Amino acid sequence: ADLPLTFAFEQSAAPIDTVERARLLANPGFGRVFTDHMAIVRYNEQQGWHDAKICPRAAFQMDGASAVLHYAQEIFEGLKAYRLADGGTALFRPEANAKRFAESARRMAMVPLPEAIFLDSIRELVRVEKDWIPEIEGGSLYLRPFMIASEVFLGVKPSSEYIYAVIASSVGAYFKAGAGAVTLWVSQDYTRAAPGGTGAAKCGGNYASSLVAQAEATRQGCDQVLFLDAVERKWIEELGGMNIFFVMDDGSLVTPPLTGTILPGITRDSILTMARAQGLTVREEPYAIDQCRADAASGRLVEAFACGTAAVVAPIAEMKMKDGAFTIGSGGPGQTTVRIRDALTGIQFGKLPDPQGWLE
Ligand code: PMP
Repeated sequence: ADLPLTFAFEQSAAPIDTVERARLLANPGFGRVFTDHMAIVRYNEQQGWHDAKICPRAAFQMDGASAVLHYAQEIFEGLKAYRLADGGTALFRPEANAKRFAESARRMAMVPLPEAIFLDSIRELVRVEKDWIPEIEGGSLYLRPFMIASEVFLGVKPSSEYIYAVIASSVGAYFKAGAGAVTLWVSQDYTRAAPGGTGAAKCGGNYASSLVAQAEATRQGCDQVLFLDAVERKWIEELGGMNIFFVMDDGSLVTPPLTGTILPGITRDSILTMARAQGLTVREEPYAIDQCRADAASGRLVEAFACGTAAVVAPIAEMKMKDGAFTIGSGGPGQTTVRIRDALTGIQFGKLPDPQGWLE
């Protein structure tokens, strides 16, 4: 009964005027400027997925007993719509987000949203809001699909009702430094995800539990936190909201493997695919923080970068931990990092050929 769903359109009666919008889009920052509309689809056991619409973006009315407010049954996604040179718009691998969203739902005992509904919601919202894609260099429309447990019930069990929604935010660079290099705080007191836990799911709880470590990183003057594994406390896992890659002096790439405790990043996967296609050696293998430090000192490790939808590819200049800090390579953006970033953004903005057919 779920498919196909047609999205009804309710136009906003009070959209932001074009002058104000132009002002906002000139310098949007990240995650603060929101568009006029959102997509919503509801689920309950009687009707399945229903009531699909693109409607004015407005506050949710929620009962205080809604399950999400107590037991954090919540998942989300993040992807971008780009403005192409020919005036059209494009999404980057939205099917991969649809699939990961369904996998996150399964891990959180939520009803997985059919991937076709996810894709339609994104396409419909972008169609309505395409004028919100900033024209500034590197600007895009960040799409935030999410799903919350909306059953009004106090008790620990999977909700029988869900609200799926997509909001959109006009964005520029994620890091203040723009294309500059970032510094990492290696968290030795807090971990992000344990074996058997929810590390591979994009659920709000993972981020809630990372905030204290991120706050510590900020206090230490670092941009992002780097988490180690929860068992041996030595293997590099990922950042609070990005995966990590290392470039060795023989030109090979190393990134931690997907063992269930890190998020399977779509940027990570795209970089692996592109690097392999270019004949680079790439290894998905565990890398210990002590080895990383020794390799940075010896010159065996020449570059490191963080990657994710929001920041795309961000060079890592320095890592700081309790017993000292160390610089990676020159401390500035390395040539392999810059090459990978340019190759990826070239595809995303439609400026380079797209051999994998990732853009649509
Ligand atoms: N790890 C975490 C914890 C994240 O939140 C993200 C952002 N979704 C990533 C990695 C990168 O994933 P992607 O490349 O799909 O944006």
